[in-house]
Amino acid sequence: MNYEMVIGLETHVELNTKSKIFCSCGGHSSANEPNDCVCPACSGMPGMLPVMNKKVVELAVTAGLMLNCEISRYTTFDKKNYYYPDLPCAYQITQLNHPICTNGVVTLKTSAGKRDIRIKQIHMEEDAGKLVHVGKATCVDFNRTSVPLIEIVTQPDFRSAEEVLTYLNKLKSMFRSGGISECEEGAMRCDVNISVRPEGSTEFGVRTEIKNMASFEAIEKAIRFEVQRHIDAIEFETEELVQETRRYDDATGKTFAMRNKETEADYRYFPDANLMPIIIDDEWLEQIKAAVPEEVDAKVDTYKEAGISEKEVDMLIANHNASKLLDEVVSLGCGAKNVAGWILTDAVSILRKNGKLLGDLDISAEDLAAIIKLVDDGEINRVSGRKILAAVIEEGVDPIAYCKDNKLDEKVDTTVIEEIMDKVLIENAQALEDYRNGKVKAKQALFGACMRALKNTADTDIIKELLERKIDN
Ligand code: ADP
Ligand code: MG
Ligand code: ZN
Repeated sequence: MNYEMVIGLETHVELNTKSKIFCSCGGHSSANEPNDCVCPACSGMPGMLPVMNKKVVELAVTAGLMLNCEISRYTTFDKKNYYYPDLPCAYQITQLNHPICTNGVVTLKTSAGKRDIRIKQIHMEEDAGKLVHVGKATCVDFNRTSVPLIEIVTQPDFRSAEEVLTYLNKLKSMFRSGGISECEEGAMRCDVNISVRPEGSTEFGVRTEIKNMASFEAIEKAIRFEVQRHIDAIEFETEELVQETRRYDDATGKTFAMRNKETEADYRYFPDANLMPIIIDDEWLEQIKAAVPEEVDAKVDTYKEAGISEKEVDMLIANHNASKLLDEVVSLGCGAKNVAGWILTDAVSILRKNGKLLGDLDISAEDLAAIIKLVDDGEINRVSGRKILAAVIEEGVDPIAYCKDNKLDEKVDTTVIEEIMDKVLIENAQALEDYRNGKVKAKQALFGACMRALKNTADTDIIKELLERKIDN
């Protein structure tokens, strides 16, 4: 008999906020040493009260809008009670009764065509701490306690591992472009619910839940193993399937039972009276909506149509600020492909020289557009343009003033250029002779010497042309 797999996902994503969800400690990844990002509130001292971080609500709503959800105008928090040493209050603040987003849908492009995955809900909650094993001791690190999470729960709509991975990759690029989360390794964790049923059947089989999977590769392997285990259990009666929570072991590629599935009653949920209900009014919702980026697929298409390379498109999609900057510079009248080059090649190399990354780029669209226009209009050459760009990025100077002050836009008379070049050729007589004797590489040395002598004030193309005229005759 042929079987069909049925999968539903619960995905936890750490939000990209400056502070934790209910206190002012630094948010995700701001900690260096264990417990250096902890205060009385997030370490569960008696009498401390939670204070809601507004940004968390905005990011959760943004995620909901991107996943076509209904946004709850009235949303509340509940306490989920359980005891574990990484949970200092012995309860987790989460949302049970009125989650912030419900009933969404995300469309996937897979090898089997378009597939709709329904989103049951998105809720906000706090993360737990971490247990660290040091020799024989077990230590607890509360840095991650109260880091904000959203949990995205799908309906059991996946029918293959490919669909699951396509969905996760789509969430990842959406959340990055929406400034919701960087989704680095460990910042996106899934509980994978799996069952199988005979092809054609409309009833669901017994499901098991594989907890806390952080690597996409492991998720794929775990699904394959677990689906086969279910099929064997049904087909060959190798074991009895029970609804339970399991753990995947990457070393053996197998899943192991952890505990029987806990039910809602096990957690003694009750409303958290320390947190007021949150009301999302029209004005606030409109404000959040206005900042939601274009749907990723549409954006990718727009960029590709503009001639931006696939690699550059990937960089842009992974970096919301860069793509926002590009869009703004384009709206100021520059070509998208050209702008992509300035941001992803020129700016990136300047940043790298300073030990920084694309995410650190801080330049206004107006300044970048001004530099690009100077070059495009032939006022300065590209080398000068890059020099101005470096000064703007590194020192925050005004590009036009910098260009004038450094006389980068002064046209050099070609007779003057030629005089200087003649001198350069005399000084580099050996290289010139080598070139004329057939050593093609020597041309580059001569060109470099001319560029240096002209201090980048003349246009690269002019220097090239004049040099070729001189040395080839
Ligand atoms: P619970 O409240 O017991 O955790 P939910 O209804 O919230 O159950 O479902 C949790 C996850 O399990 C959801 O992502 C859902 O899609 C998935 N799920 C539910 N039933 C099945 C099933 N029979 N097979 C696979 N996944 C399932
Ligand atoms: Mg659940
Ligand atoms: Zn704190």
